[in-house]
Amino acid sequence: MFENLSRRFTQVLGAFGIKKRLTEANIEESLREIRTALIEADAALPVIKSFIARVKEKALGTELLSSVEPGQQFVKILHDELVALLGGEVVAELKLPDPSRTASLLVCGLQGSGKTTTCGKLARHLKDRRDILLVSLDVNRPAAAEQLRVLAGQAGVDFYDRGDEKDPLAIVRGARKHAERHVRNLIVFDTAGRTQVDADMLKELERIHKEVRPDETLFVADAMTGQRALAIAKAFRETVPLSAVVFTKFDSDTRGGAVLSVKETLGVPIPYVGVGESIEAFEAFQPRRVADRMLGMGDIVGLVEKAQSVVDEKQALALAEKIKKNTFDLDDFLGQLSQIDKMGGVQSMMEMLPGMGEHSQAAAAEVPRLRRMRAILQSMTGVERQKPFLLNNSRRLRIAKGSGTTVLDVNQLLKRFDDMRGMMRKMKNPAQMRRMMAQLGVNADDPAAMARLERLSKTS
Ligand code: GDP
Ligand code: MG
Repeated sequence: MFENLSRRFTQVLGAFGIKKRLTEANIEESLREIRTALIEADAALPVIKSFIARVKEKALGTELLSSVEPGQQFVKILHDELVALLGGEVVAELKLPDPSRTASLLVCGLQGSGKTTTCGKLARHLKDRRDILLVSLDVNRPAAAEQLRVLAGQAGVDFYDRGDEKDPLAIVRGARKHAERHVRNLIVFDTAGRTQVDADMLKELERIHKEVRPDETLFVADAMTGQRALAIAKAFRETVPLSAVVFTKFDSDTRGGAVLSVKETLGVPIPYVGVGESIEAFEAFQPRRVADRMLGMGDIVGLVEKAQSVVDEKQALALAEKIKKNTFDLDDFLGQLSQIDKMGGVQSMMEMLPGMGEHSQAAAAEVPRLRRMRAILQSMTGVERQKPFLLNNSRRLRIAKGSGTTVLDVNQLLKRFDDMRGMMRKMKNPAQMRRMMAQLGVNADDPAAMARLERLSKTS
C-alpha cells in the first residue's frame, strides 16, 4: 500500500540528508519534489497546495532541537502535517446516540464499492455494543439482499426479511417495526448503487434518506478509484449530507491521494477502512499509522519524539511494586491508562518495541476502548476505585450514565480488571514480567531499568 508514495518520500528525504541545515533553499527544493510525489499519488491539487504551504511555514518557523539533525526534524514536520491531513491523532468514531434510542446508519456509494460487505463488517464490529438489524434496500437485485443475509449470519446479527416488498420506503418502515419489536438499537441500511452516478439512483437515495433520517450517512469508496472516488462523493453530497467516508480495498496498492484529500475536500472523517474480503477485514482508520506507512520513516519520527518523551519510569516501578504486593486497584488502573495516553497510545508504544510492530495495528483498534475505559474510571469516586467491591448495580448504572457508556461496558471493565489482577498474581516468569513492564512504560531494552526491575521482583 502507498508503495510509490512511500518510495518517493524516502528519495526526497534521503536527498535532504541529515547534515544539511533547514534553509529556505533546501526546504523549497524538497517541497517541490514532495509536491510531485503527491500529484503522482493522485491527491487533489488544492489539498496539495495548502499542505505544502503549511509544511513550509512550519519548517521555516521551527526552532531547531539541538539533539536531532535538522533533516530529521523536517521529516517530523512532514509527518505531523500528514497526520493532520489524514484526520489528526484522534481516531474518528461514529457518533451514535445513547443506546436507549434506536440509531440508524445509511450506507451509500457506487455499485461494487463494497457497501454490502461494509454493512456486514460494521455489524460484526459494533455488535458487542449494539443490538443490530441489517436491512437491504437494494430492491433491484434479490442477490444483494441474499448477500447481506449471509453476512448477517456470519456477523451473528439480525437480518430483516423484507419478503416480496419492492418499495424501499415500505421496507424502511417495516424494518423499524421489526427493530422495535425485537429491541434492536442500531439499524444499518444497505442501499442499491449504480456503476455510475445517476439521477435516478440519487433521487431514490434522497427519498430513502428522508424516510430513514439516519444518525450517520456513510459513503463507501473504493480506495483503488483514487481522485474519482471524491468526485463521486461530492456528487452524492449534493443530494444527501455525508457524515463519514469508509474506504474499502485498503489492502490493495492504492496510491493514497484520495485518502489524503478526504478531510480537506469533504470535511468528514474516515472512521474505518476495509482491508480484505472477509468479514473481519475491517479496521479503525489510524491517521498516524497511515502517515507512518506513507513516509516509511517511523524510526526517525520516533527518534525526534523521544527527544521530548515523557516515560515516567518512577511511576512504572512503583506500579510494579504494587503488582508484586497485590495492592493494585482501580486507581492504579486509571493511572496506567493515563500513562498509555501520555505516551501516544498503545500503538506507538508497541511500534517502538522490537518485534511488536505487527501487533500494533491490533493494539490501535483498542484505543477507542481504552478511552471508554478511562471515562468509566473517571466517573467513579476515589473510594470506589480503591474498593471496587462497593460497586453494586445502582452504582454501576450511575457510572455508566456519567461516562456515556452502558452498564455492560462497566461490567466488562470490572471483569477485565479482575482478569488482569489474576494474571498479575500468577506472573512469575521474568519474560512475562518484562513484557508487562514494557507495556507500563519501562524500556525493556534499557539494561539499567531492567536490572532495577529484577531487583524489585526479587524483594517481594
Ligand atoms: P456493493 O456493490 O457496493 O454492495 O459491493 P460489495 O459489498 O458487493 O463488494 C464488491 C466486491 O468488493 C466484492 O467482491 C467484495 O468481496 C469486495 N470487497 C469489499 N470490500 C473489500 C475490501 O476491503 N478489500 C477487498 N480486497 N475486497 C473488498
Ligand atoms: Mg451491495
